[in-house]
Amino acid sequence: MYMTTAELREAFLSFFKQQEHQIVASSSLVPHDDPTLLFTNAGMNQFKDCFLGTEKRSYTRAVSSQRCVRAGGKHNDLENVGYTARHHTFFEMLGNFSFGDYFKHDAIRYAWQFLTEVVKLPKERLLVTVYESDDEAFDIWAKEIGVPVDRIIRIGDKSADKPYESDNFWQMGDTGPCGPCTEIFYDHGEHIWGGPPGSPEEDGDRFIEIWNLVFMQFNRQSDGTMEPLPKPSVDTGMGLERIAAILQGVHSNYEIDIFQFLIKATATILKVSDLTDKSLRVIADHIRSCSFLIADGVMPSNEGRGYVLRRIIRRAVRHGNKLGADKPFFHLLAKGLVTEMGAAYPELAQQLPVIEKVLLVEEEQFLRTLDRGLALLDEALRGLDGDTVPGETVFKLYDTYGFPADLTADIARERELNIDQDGFDKAMEQQRQRAKQANQFGVDYNQNIAIDGKSEFKGYDATEYPASVVAVFTK
Ligand code: ATP
Ligand code: MG
Ligand code: MG
Ligand code: MG
Repeated sequence: MYMTTAELREAFLSFFKQQEHQIVASSSLVPHDDPTLLFTNAGMNQFKDCFLGTEKRSYTRAVSSQRCVRAGGKHNDLENVGYTARHHTFFEMLGNFSFGDYFKHDAIRYAWQFLTEVVKLPKERLLVTVYESDDEAFDIWAKEIGVPVDRIIRIGDKSADKPYESDNFWQMGDTGPCGPCTEIFYDHGEHIWGGPPGSPEEDGDRFIEIWNLVFMQFNRQSDGTMEPLPKPSVDTGMGLERIAAILQGVHSNYEIDIFQFLIKATATILKVSDLTDKSLRVIADHIRSCSFLIADGVMPSNEGRGYVLRRIIRRAVRHGNKLGADKPFFHLLAKGLVTEMGAAYPELAQQLPVIEKVLLVEEEQFLRTLDRGLALLDEALRGLDGDTVPGETVFKLYDTYGFPADLTADIARERELNIDQDGFDKAMEQQRQRAKQANQFGVDYNQNIAIDGKSEFKGYDATEYPASVVAVFTK
């Protein structure tokens, strides 16, 4: 059954509304008052306190389509973009939630009903996993739903000394609500490489995970202990783009309507004829995360969230350069994104002028050093002995040409090389020490220090932006 991505989003929300769920708008990508989290990475984030029992709402069932970014922190898919069919830095997570209301039976029943009756997926293409010791979930699938037992796979902990380190035990971060889960996979067919979950080929893209149903039962403490939650609850997450791919009869998320539009727009601007080029996929992915992050108030900077944003922009600009771009192009794509997603996200449309300006400033700034940095890297690679780019080269690219280390690693990976991350970290540390000493004499050399991405959002780095951009945020 063909559905556009927009129709699918609506179908999901309205199905759960019929099951008495409150439709809740997506929250910002910048988590509200939660320093444990870099970016919103799942639909449940905005309901964290409801699961913990410290916040009461007027409803006990909710449904949402949540914008998420996984480009840092516990869930980080930046390095998967361009390499798998199913990962984005920005994606939408469809989810239904129960706060001490229904539990395993209804969660499984609703999911199956939506998939096989509403959007009519063929049952024989679906298989499910459960947490190793969760006999209850196994029995619901086998006896109540009627999934053949050879298509129900138990997944255990990664090793005996790591309880709860399983793909079927979901945790939002190192602390917070968590619990065993059951996941639904779709088999895209034998012609695609990959094996079922739990098999040695599971990282392939033949069997794609579409929906995770988490049975929230614990609150993980910072010392690792698990405290039971006041009431067992349900949190589910389904990747909108992954299910859209199935309904649109394509394998990769990058072939769905939204992505094809963005890829064609990029190809037109850059005059590229091969629409399957990996760099086009990366750019199409990155324009979504960058635009939505800026719309949610993140500004490129040298630390914390802003540095993650800057890194993603620079990666996109570098991929544009690879495709032959000789002037700023990335900012032009924001308009296309608004055409595709502005109706569902009016805040994106509203912020378009800001997004365009911020991206343009960033592009112009990086373009000033990109070519020279690439030339330096090429030269270093020509003389390379072995398959590792030395830490000093990575540091020089960072310090002099504004290449974040992950960007250099991205280029190295294309040539089947690694970077010496330890060497880079050491060079960074030495620079920090030098800066500290210099500071004692009142000189600030400490301008270009990368941060691990964990620091808290401190506001906008206004100095680099035109007054008109800054004004929008300071109103
Ligand atoms: P995977 O194993 O494929 O990386 P995951 O187990 O990390 O996915 P969950 O944390 O269980 O994903 O998130 C719930 C759902 O969100 C997934 O089942 C998937 O449909 C979707 N999803 C997760 N990460 C991404 C991503 N980076 N891009 C697009 N969709 C995603
Ligand atoms: Mg993942
Ligand atoms: Mg998974
Ligand atoms: Mg999962």
